[in-house]
Amino acid sequence: RPRVRFAPSPTGFLHVGGARTALFNWLYAKKFDGDFLLRIEDTDRQRSTDESTRAIFEGLEWLGLSWDEDVVYQGANVDRHYADAHRLLETGAAYRDFTSPAVTEQLRAEAEARGEAFRFDRATADLSEAETAERLARNEPYAIRFRVPDGTTEWDDLVHDRIAFPNKDIEDFIILRSNGTPVYNLAVVSDDIAMRVTLVLRGDDHISNTPKQILLYEALGATVPQFGHVPMIHGTDGKKLSKRHGATAVGDYQHEGLLPQAMLNFLALLGWSTGDDTEVMSLDELVEKFRLEGLQKKASIFDTKKLEWMNGQHLVRVPIDELATVIAPLIAQAGLATESELREKHAWFCGVLELLRVRARRLTEIVDQAKPFFVDLVDYDPDAVSKQWRDAEATADILEATHARLTSLSTWDLTVMEDALRALAEERGISSGKIFQPLRVALVGLTVSPGIFETLQYVGRERSLARIAAAVS
Ligand code: GLU
Repeated sequence: RPRVRFAPSPTGFLHVGGARTALFNWLYAKKFDGDFLLRIEDTDRQRSTDESTRAIFEGLEWLGLSWDEDVVYQGANVDRHYADAHRLLETGAAYRDFTSPAVTEQLRAEAEARGEAFRFDRATADLSEAETAERLARNEPYAIRFRVPDGTTEWDDLVHDRIAFPNKDIEDFIILRSNGTPVYNLAVVSDDIAMRVTLVLRGDDHISNTPKQILLYEALGATVPQFGHVPMIHGTDGKKLSKRHGATAVGDYQHEGLLPQAMLNFLALLGWSTGDDTEVMSLDELVEKFRLEGLQKKASIFDTKKLEWMNGQHLVRVPIDELATVIAPLIAQAGLATESELREKHAWFCGVLELLRVRARRLTEIVDQAKPFFVDLVDYDPDAVSKQWRDAEATADILEATHARLTSLSTWDLTVMEDALRALAEERGISSGKIFQPLRVALVGLTVSPGIFETLQYVGRERSLARIAAAVS
């Protein structure tokens, strides 16, 4: 059974790049009937925060990327990391390094000044047993370094094909610091072995860690998993995605009124494609179409315009009841109605959403445009007034006539209203726009709204008539 994991470090919010990594792993698990595991890499005590861990949970929950099994906290496994480091020491795959960090840094700086890669001098490492025992007896601190063997370390990357690193370019890296804390690469490998991870799919900023990790798997006698490294996300200017490009935290998009399915769809297409032209997909469709072969090597572009477009696509596709559930709290927050009021007039509420969703790109826009359907009287946008009510006398005259005509109707029905107002225009010898446009401003305060008759219908008879009367007075 395939097992994949998402292993964020809780040092900030859930970044869109992290969410994409999580999504690819999640899709893989669903597609191949595997497990998707979550590991919080909190060994860096200084930089890890509970707030960040919570943001990661919330982000994944919002996106619907649920994980299997309990969350693994890397910090809870340091005893095993420590034991693994000592096991490698016993087998000779690693050695004690009694050199002080300051001296090592000095040697590293000197090597770099000579234009050479730093290599730890193993002659100083391979101490006699007697000397080692003596230093240990003196309680001298030591780090544990991995003894990189000769040869080449290579793997078939699922995204980049064959990748090979000559081992001579890999320094004998520390796996356990002199203060007893494990180094990142050891902790990751030790945990991935314990979690029986079969595929490591992550950002290609980790490619340089992979040869070290493979060497550790081999030295620990464990099966090396498959690796796939997805390309970084860039902004539209081709530079690595950063705050300069706008929001990079998943939570920001949630609060800006995006649907999770749009975010997921958009993220899925960053570095992956179906191979055909399909772009708008539900999560189920993503699972169905997901193939590792669709992962691309080139960096992907985070284009917020496309994200908005994608959201618009999902706004019209999402089942209306689901949309109502998502928007209800936002309507309540805006003070337009309570959630229980919305439940009581569910059919009406869904009708309003049907009118608004076809022209919106964000949930927040729908909330703004829903306002005229909830309040008693609307505020008039000054631009709309100066544009559509320029001639005060003529406006009052036509609105009065409209009011009278609508009042006379026995039903508040779309086609009945339409026939009545078109007849009025004809009688007066004016275009129907000369009636609809001032009427729209009276009803919603703006020059734009859904269809005028749908607006009348959903604003309702009483409130519509009251608004027209208020506009005339
Ligand atoms: N914790 C690492 C990160 O946030 C990911 C490690 C991994 O996926 O192997 O970049």
